[in-house]
Amino acid sequence: MLSLLPLLLCIFSSTIRAAQGPSPRPSVVHVGALLTFDSTIGRVAKVAIDAAREDVNSDPAVLAGTRLDIEMRDTNCSGFLGMAEDWLSSLLDSKGPLSSYTMSTMQGIITLRQHTEESERKSDLISRWGNLTRKESGNFRLNSYGFYAYDTVWMLAKAIDSFFDDGGIISFSNDSRLQDSTAGTLHLDAMNIFNGGDLLLDKVRSTHFDGSTGVFQFDSDGNLIHPAYDIINVIGTGSRTIGYWSNYSGLSVVPPETLYTKPLNVSPSRDQLYSVIWPGETTIRPRGWVFPNNGKELKIGYPLRVGYTEFVSKSPTTDTAKGYCIDVFTAAVNLLPYAVPFKLIPFGDGHDNPNYTALVNMVATQEFDAAVGDIAIVTSRTKIVDFTQPYLSSGLVILAPIRRRKSNAWAFLQPFTLEMWCVIGILFIMIGTVVWTLEHRLNDEFRGPPRKQLITIFWFSFSTLFFAHRESTVSTLGRSVLLIWLFVVLIIQSSYTASLTSILTVQKLSTTVEGIESLRTGNGFIGFQVGSFAENYMVEELRIPRSRLKALSPEEYAGALELGSDNGGVTAIVDELGYVEIFLSKNCQFSIVGPEFTKNGWGFVFQRDSPLAVDMSTAILTLSENGDLQRIHDKWFTRAACFSESEEIDSERLSLSSFWGLFLICGISCFLALVIYLTGVIYQYIHLPSTHQQDPSSHRMPKLGRSLREFFSFLNDKEEDVQKRYSQRGHKPDGDVSVNLET
Ligand code: GLU
Repeated sequence: MLSLLPLLLCIFSSTIRAAQGPSPRPSVVHVGALLTFDSTIGRVAKVAIDAAREDVNSDPAVLAGTRLDIEMRDTNCSGFLGMAEDWLSSLLDSKGPLSSYTMSTMQGIITLRQHTEESERKSDLISRWGNLTRKESGNFRLNSYGFYAYDTVWMLAKAIDSFFDDGGIISFSNDSRLQDSTAGTLHLDAMNIFNGGDLLLDKVRSTHFDGSTGVFQFDSDGNLIHPAYDIINVIGTGSRTIGYWSNYSGLSVVPPETLYTKPLNVSPSRDQLYSVIWPGETTIRPRGWVFPNNGKELKIGYPLRVGYTEFVSKSPTTDTAKGYCIDVFTAAVNLLPYAVPFKLIPFGDGHDNPNYTALVNMVATQEFDAAVGDIAIVTSRTKIVDFTQPYLSSGLVILAPIRRRKSNAWAFLQPFTLEMWCVIGILFIMIGTVVWTLEHRLNDEFRGPPRKQLITIFWFSFSTLFFAHRESTVSTLGRSVLLIWLFVVLIIQSSYTASLTSILTVQKLSTTVEGIESLRTGNGFIGFQVGSFAENYMVEELRIPRSRLKALSPEEYAGALELGSDNGGVTAIVDELGYVEIFLSKNCQFSIVGPEFTKNGWGFVFQRDSPLAVDMSTAILTLSENGDLQRIHDKWFTRAACFSESEEIDSERLSLSSFWGLFLICGISCFLALVIYLTGVIYQYIHLPSTHQQDPSSHRMPKLGRSLREFFSFLNDKEEDVQKRYSQRGHKPDGDVSVNLET
């Protein structure tokens, strides 16, 4: 009510008349009120002021017999008084106290009404104003305006009463300061000054009473003490109170008057509001701000791509933009803390990919507010527009045809290195010899003429390669050695198969282009994607003559590369990695040569210093960090890459280093078996004199030579025969030896 009061006071001082001569208490006090009749405040205030005047005048105790007369005039919303009323309205709408609360942005859905306490008088007034309320139905401000107008008249009456009690006299004088120097329509010089103004103002400030809206009192600044607001959620044509705000208790769902008596911080209802129902009957909070573009949607250009339409293109069915870039853009816009209404406008003739630099220029010249698409961030463009952070990195690479290496007749040798082949060969012979040694004395299959035995050694060992050896092994040692060897063979065999398979499937590749330097210094034609910045880059940065460059659409790539530079095609194509990857997923006869030689990325284009560029960059980083960027990428590009073909076969060859452990085990087992075997045989030889000792020819030989010869002859003897001989002579040697050798 603080707002209505100065208006009334101002009028009061100008129209009061001392109607009853010198008596300090006039019979009538005339008060003027200026209202805009045809306004919400005006209509309701008029009724309320009338009601208050009636009530004041019907109670002689209020003004001790003096009658209060209020004359109301229409301001027609003109001049400063009209402005004053606008100001009043704006005060009632004020969001000042709530500015810390984000609802302030949701005007129209959440609004404020000055809070009034429930009282008997209030309900009485409501019933008296019932008709008016109905007429103004839907306007929730109605009652609070009325109550405050009503209470203000009462307060004024009480203040006037106390003004008279203190000897106040109503008198006026002219003031020389009020001169209408501009000779305008206000006629200030005709106005009088109310001499008792200060006293009356004091009275107004010190008066307090229980009005229809609770305690009615002003503080020293003229503000109502305990200003409070109801927070109203407007739903369609209805409304509902979702809480209160007062300068004492802050936001709460409990009416402020019940909190005035309680200590502040104990209330659990503090800083709470009932949930808001938003348009669309939802309690999910919408994003409040709208990007300020004078209410217009942003015009956003996108390239009408012809090749690689997965990046961005126009859907032929719905005529709307679609593609990876569009999805990234919409995902980023959705992360902005405010709504950005936009319209996507295609750029390009639909036959060829448009010139991307021209699109960027259109943003710079403000034909578009922004551009979205696979637009590379390059220095020349960053000079005229602002880019967001890149959402995809895509530098320039060289795409060139590759030649397949001819299949080699000696490919079967490639799985193992030469060293490995030699070691394997030696091992086979070694195993054959060891097994022969261990078996020779026990097993008839390893006996016979020396030539036959030699063949047996080779045959036996090499047939183990296929696990096809026929000769059975009878000695324990021979079997153990063979077992370990078969395991080694198994490993060698499977490694060979695996290695050979990979060598035969992987083709060795070679290209004529080695890198950007050889391409630059060569003289073949170089292709680039039509519309791409690659053209300018090659001309301006790499200094390649423009005559060597050929604009190609992605569909022409394969044909031009296959033709080659001499037949009207190109030697190689320079394009961004993003496109080349897609191309290679369908064309395996080409390959990227060398590394990416520029490090570009794709970003969205905004006009210089656009705040959106910064916010969109943040949104893109968020998308990248939460993995959404990758998910969008996978949605559009699920492709199988060509088999990686550039590996050298040498690196696939198996060398000794991968097998020496296995070979060591095999060698140790052979060695141990031989040691054990020889120990047994020597033991047997020493303890059992053989028939060789009676050989008459032996006498002519030197002693050492003779015994060695005898020993080898003993070795050559079949174990069975030796045993037989000794049992005939009735001499049983150490049984352990025979057991060792026979089993
Ligand atoms: N991304 C390229 C650029 O920004 C254009 C690709 C094309 O020409 O299709 O220049």
